[in-house]
Amino acid sequence: MQTMRDFHYGSIHHRDNFWREQARRIHWETPFERVLDDSNLPFARWFPGGRTNLCYNAVDRWLETRADERALVWVSTEVDQTREFTVRQLYDEVNAVAAVLRETGVEQGDRVLIYMPMVPEAVFTMLACARLGAIHSVVFGGFASVNLAQRIDDAAPKVIVSADAGSRGGKVVAYKPLLDRALTLARHPPTRTLILDRGLAPMQTDPARDIDYAEARARHAGAEVPVVWMESTAPSYILYTSGTTGTPKGVQRDIGGYAVALASSMAYIFDGKPGETFFCTSDIGWVVGHSYIVYGPLIGGQTTVLYEGTPVRPDGAILWRLIEQYKVNTLFSAPTAIRVLKKQDPALLKQHDLTSLRAIYLAGEPLDEPTAQWVADSLGKPVIDNYWQTESGWPILAAQPGVERVPTKFGSPSFPVYGFDVRIVDEATGEDMGPDEKGVVAIVPPLPPGAMTTIWGNDARFVETYFTSVPNRQVYSTFDWGRRDADGYYFILGRTDDVINVAGHRLGTREIEESISSHAGVAECAVVGVADAIKGQTAVAFVVLKSAQVGEPGPAADALRREMLAVVDDQLGAIARPSALRFVQALPKTRSGKVLRRAIVAICEGRETGDLTTIEDPSTLDQIKDSLQ
Ligand code: AMP
Repeated sequence: MQTMRDFHYGSIHHRDNFWREQARRIHWETPFERVLDDSNLPFARWFPGGRTNLCYNAVDRWLETRADERALVWVSTEVDQTREFTVRQLYDEVNAVAAVLRETGVEQGDRVLIYMPMVPEAVFTMLACARLGAIHSVVFGGFASVNLAQRIDDAAPKVIVSADAGSRGGKVVAYKPLLDRALTLARHPPTRTLILDRGLAPMQTDPARDIDYAEARARHAGAEVPVVWMESTAPSYILYTSGTTGTPKGVQRDIGGYAVALASSMAYIFDGKPGETFFCTSDIGWVVGHSYIVYGPLIGGQTTVLYEGTPVRPDGAILWRLIEQYKVNTLFSAPTAIRVLKKQDPALLKQHDLTSLRAIYLAGEPLDEPTAQWVADSLGKPVIDNYWQTESGWPILAAQPGVERVPTKFGSPSFPVYGFDVRIVDEATGEDMGPDEKGVVAIVPPLPPGAMTTIWGNDARFVETYFTSVPNRQVYSTFDWGRRDADGYYFILGRTDDVINVAGHRLGTREIEESISSHAGVAECAVVGVADAIKGQTAVAFVVLKSAQVGEPGPAADALRREMLAVVDDQLGAIARPSALRFVQALPKTRSGKVLRRAIVAICEGRETGDLTTIEDPSTLDQIKDSLQ
């Protein structure tokens, strides 16, 4: 058996052979001409000339061997329903929606925006888009109208697919009014929307625009829509992510490279086989959901479990119960979920037969050692911390038990994944750092198959954002600090920018600041991420009011605070709502006017602020301290 080191070396130094071999894992209708076109780095074109289709690889290809096997299991503890779909049934559902979309005029290259809760119809729609060669843009259901409108304007979808409502923690969350608001805010809203009526929330419909999902599906039941064979490098989807500016970036991914990367990861990272069952607790609105609820498991011939619910309802054993019931082999979740479960009765962990489970994969945010230790000890299963980003599409750092079994170290997402030429670089010189030295986690181009290919509609921003921040060399910056120890294990040490991570969800502090600042009473504000025992970080806002008196403690200040938080809820969604909003007279700034965020965070976390020679007015730090009392 080869070692991980050799395997990784081969992926970088014998790149074409390596990926040509991996490309056999998927179906190509037309063989590719080359493995990689790297004539215009940092743009990488994987498998150019090849024609394939994500939907074909996820669904049609398995009809021959797995037609009557389960492909998708949907469990909702929110509405107490379970639905199961064999490969054949999934094929039928996907074809019906594809026919509906085609009827509304969706063609190859058109965008379809999906704003849906965790229901099977969301998966059918994603796959239907892939079948037609249309580009989906899934917007997380927790986002609100302003976020949605921004994404509508950027992607210019021909159709939006949505639902009356979702449900979270037993509470109905209406989607349709948010969508209607977003459509009035958008500059170029689409003329057609396809709406799934779950009967959860009454809604107003516009007969000229809204098409009823169930009715349209019934009309197209039994339809067979031919697969559109797509150029490997054509876009499969856009997924927006936050950065340091207020404008989200549309991460664009290809088709062939993505399919190959995911297919290979099912074997090497997840050590799985067709016929197994994969349970990923993420949301289809995030990259983990795209890759490991929808495409990865299905392309790998596995059953995927789609779960609408939280890890603690009806009780803290629900995840373990589902693992037993569906004989789940792989669980993929986030550290926050495990930290929540850690607070539950330990007896809940012992009630279920977890023999089918091989390992637990956790990603999306730092996995602290005590949590990793706790879950490993409690379940007696390997815990695989893996590090990645919306941009990478699949893990950058991870243990890869399908290649070689190597012990893990708690607190470390282990080693670079094959295809990723990961370096720890000096932010000042761009040079590679030695063992145990802290630097920026960077990737030498080309980014491997499956990673983002550009920013939707903005090639220049792709290069500018990701490939120019490290001096003296063109490398991709992850904007994370990291270090590698003497044994080659990597550690992630936090972001280099103002992006924060709340319960595994990346939030741009700028977006939240802009939202709060849209309230007429705000002069300026700063939002920072502060350490939180459960969620990793929470957002805390410091606001300077136009009229100083209003900020004095009392009912008027409380009312104003509520108003401002309501603006964030309304514009961005409750997910972005700061856990605290405090009024101050002035923000701590440097003499050149830059807000001293790190100092604010240090004060909030009860740490020393360090050297602040550039501060303009030191008394502003006391105000921050006082506001925390
Ligand atoms: P997102 O694109 O929303 O998935 O967020 C990606 C960011 O989450 C990364 O840049 C890291 O800051 C953080 N992240 C993801 N996975 C891990 C991990 N395993 N350990 C530490 N940080 C992580």
